[in-house]
Amino acid sequence: MSEQPIALVTGANKGIGYEVAAGLGGAGCVVGVGARDGQRRDEAVAKLRTAGVDAFGVALDVTDTASVAAAAQLIDERFGRLDILVNNAGIAGPWPGEPTAVSPEALRAVLETNVVGVVRVTNLMLPLLRRSSRARIVNQSSHVASLTLQTTPGVELGPVSGAYSPSKTLLNAVTIQYAKELSGTTIKINNACPGYVATDLNGFAGTSTPEQGAAIAVRLALLPDDGPTGGLFDDNGAVPW
Ligand code: NAP
Repeated sequence: MSEQPIALVTGANKGIGYEVAAGLGGAGCVVGVGARDGQRRDEAVAKLRTAGVDAFGVALDVTDTASVAAAAQLIDERFGRLDILVNNAGIAGPWPGEPTAVSPEALRAVLETNVVGVVRVTNLMLPLLRRSSRARIVNQSSHVASLTLQTTPGVELGPVSGAYSPSKTLLNAVTIQYAKELSGTTIKINNACPGYVATDLNGFAGTSTPEQGAAIAVRLALLPDDGPTGGLFDDNGAVPW
C-alpha cells in the first residue's frame, strides 16, 4: 500500500483543476486526474508526469453514476483507500444567465454538475475516504456563492447570475451538512474560493492564473489534523457564508 497520500481531483484536465493536481503532486501526493474526455485526460496525465507528478488517469463524468462508481472501483483496486478528494469539476451554464432568462433545463444542468455531481462523487468515494486515517474533501465554491457578500452593498461580484451563483450557494449549504454529519470523524470538508481566474469557464477574462486560483484548494486538501472543517476559505482566510 502506498505511503504517499492518494488524491483524486475531478475536472483536472485543465484550468484550476489541473493546477490543483500539479500542486498536490508537488506536495508528494499520488494524483488521480479525473476527467471525462479520454484524450484531454491522457494529455494532462502525460504533462503532469513530465513535471514529476505521480499522476494516473481516472475516467469520470460527475453527472454519470456508473462512471463515478467505476472510478471508485479503480481507486479501490489500485490503492484500497482515498486520502484527498477535490470536487473541482464545474460548469458556468448560461452566462451571466439573469434569473429572468434562465430556462429550467439550463438551471437543472448547472445544478446537476455543480451540486448533484459533488454529492454523487463524494458519496461514492466515501467508503474509500473512510479508510484513510485523515481524509480531506475540498469543494470548489466561489465568492459569488456568498449570500453575505451578495447582499453587502458595494461588494463587486460580477453580473447577476441565476444559475451559476445559486448553484455554488447550494453547494455551500450541502457542505455544511456534510461537515455536521462527519464531525467526530477524521474527515474534514471545506469549500474553496479560487478568486477570479482566467480559464475556459469565463473566456479567460479572470485576473489571476490557474496556479494562483488552485492554491487555496491545495492548502485545504493538505490541512493538518488541527485544521478547520465546514468552512469557506480564500487565500486571505475565512469567507462569510
Ligand atoms: P474550466 O477550465 O472550464 O474547467 C472545468 C473542468 O471541469 C474541466 O476539466 C471540465 O472538463 C470539468 N467538467 C465539467 N463538467 C464535468 C463533468 N460532468 N464531469 C467531469 N468533469 C467535468 O473551469 P475552471 O475555472 O478551472 O473551474 C474549476 C472549478 O472552479 C469550477 O468548479 C468552477 O466553478 C470553480 N471556480 C472558478 C472560478 C474562475 O474564476 N475560473 C472562480 C470560482 C470558482 P471538460 O474539459 O471535459 O469540459
